[in-house]
Amino acid sequence: MGELSFRESVNRMVDRAITTMDLEPGLASAIKGCNSVLQVRFPVLIRDKIEVFTGWRAVHSTHRLPAKGGIRFAPTVAQDEVEALAALMTYKCAIMDIPFGGSKGALLIDPRKYTRDEMQPITRRFTLELARKQFLSPATNVPAPDMGTGQREMAWMADTYKNLCPEDINYLASVTGKPVQHGGIHGRVEATGRGVQYGLREFFRHTGAVTAAGLSGDLDGKRVIIQGLGNVGYHASKFLTEEDGVKVIAVIEHDGVIANPKGLLIEELYRYKVANKGVKGYPDGTFHNDSAAALEMECDVLIPAAMEGQITADNAPRIQAKIIAEAANGPVTYAADKLLRDRGVVIIPDAFLNAGGVVVSYFEWVQNISHIRFGRLQRRLDEGRGNYYTTALEELTGKAVPEKLRSWIGHGADELDLVRSGLDDTMRLAFQEMLARREENPKIKDLRTAAFSVAIEKIAQSYIDVSPY
Ligand code: GLU
Repeated sequence: MGELSFRESVNRMVDRAITTMDLEPGLASAIKGCNSVLQVRFPVLIRDKIEVFTGWRAVHSTHRLPAKGGIRFAPTVAQDEVEALAALMTYKCAIMDIPFGGSKGALLIDPRKYTRDEMQPITRRFTLELARKQFLSPATNVPAPDMGTGQREMAWMADTYKNLCPEDINYLASVTGKPVQHGGIHGRVEATGRGVQYGLREFFRHTGAVTAAGLSGDLDGKRVIIQGLGNVGYHASKFLTEEDGVKVIAVIEHDGVIANPKGLLIEELYRYKVANKGVKGYPDGTFHNDSAAALEMECDVLIPAAMEGQITADNAPRIQAKIIAEAANGPVTYAADKLLRDRGVVIIPDAFLNAGGVVVSYFEWVQNISHIRFGRLQRRLDEGRGNYYTTALEELTGKAVPEKLRSWIGHGADELDLVRSGLDDTMRLAFQEMLARREENPKIKDLRTAAFSVAIEKIAQSYIDVSPY
């Protein structure tokens, strides 16, 4: 089967979910289509020469506002890809019960070729183009980091918006993923990786789902291969190895593969990768160049955490993983998805598994428009109450409460505690909703179709409620 474009691939997956539902065809096509796309071209003076840049912001759905989604800076990006990613944001927000529409942006640029001082005016000018054309504001369209962008770019974007609209009291909420000292929230950088961990934990709490994947037990000792040690891959594999006993037996990076059947130390490997701009030469593992073969190695869970279109009709028949945990957006193509399902490989879909980023972005946005840090009002109160409990317990029993327990009970939740708790809850509920959907509808066999079915039903309901015209 030939490969479709990314946008067509997402659409077909959505169509598959629609066939399991009773949805009016007009409504289905209203939901699927991308509402609007802005393309901008702007010049910036770099090293005494004028360079012209092209960027996009696609708004897939505005059934909820603001429309939300990251902005990527990449040397190969096209409108089709931005539209596909914007659509995924719509479904992702709906699955996770995040009250946002879906959007995505991109700038065609290789950020590695420019210095920090050059990136700043480029990013600010792009922001200006988006804001002037009504494609950026706390109420209507809120960007976040994605591939090639991070806190630094978000700080520049938010600052540009602030200068443009100083009378907007909610200017900080125009962008999420900002540095903490510029209105960001604790736990946003780790959020997508953390969400992958929480999502996998929830999967492994459901014995039926684990057995169907041909596995047993919990995450402890599971052999994992991870593709991409960027922000998402690094955090996901770090938390899974350090907190859940997972063994990462191979890491696939842009310069090759590091494998170690005993399990890699992720923090150490990540530091090596940053210092050496690659994993080649890392002492505690064997290196080889065959990244494609590494995807096909025997393992329990394969976590593609790099980019779209990595598992295709070509390599899908050779994938030996029992579970594919989609930490990236769109890593499995439509054709590959079918081949893998037919072979019984369980896919935990991107629109659920990598939603941690946008979930915590939602918390950041709420915090920004509330103008008060989470935990600021109640933290000391909770702490005091906890201390009273332990004292009361000691007085009533005549026994000392162990120190670890005392400090846990007497700990008032701070911003990071609340963010992690909110993310964990959101991941669990979304997974349970997907499972319940699969159980109640015999036409639905896989988690992706279940996820899209949940999403489409919610979006359809909001269209019906206001009868669009
Ligand atoms: N770029 C991330 C994603 O694809 C985060 C989006 C956001 O936080 O708005 O989900």
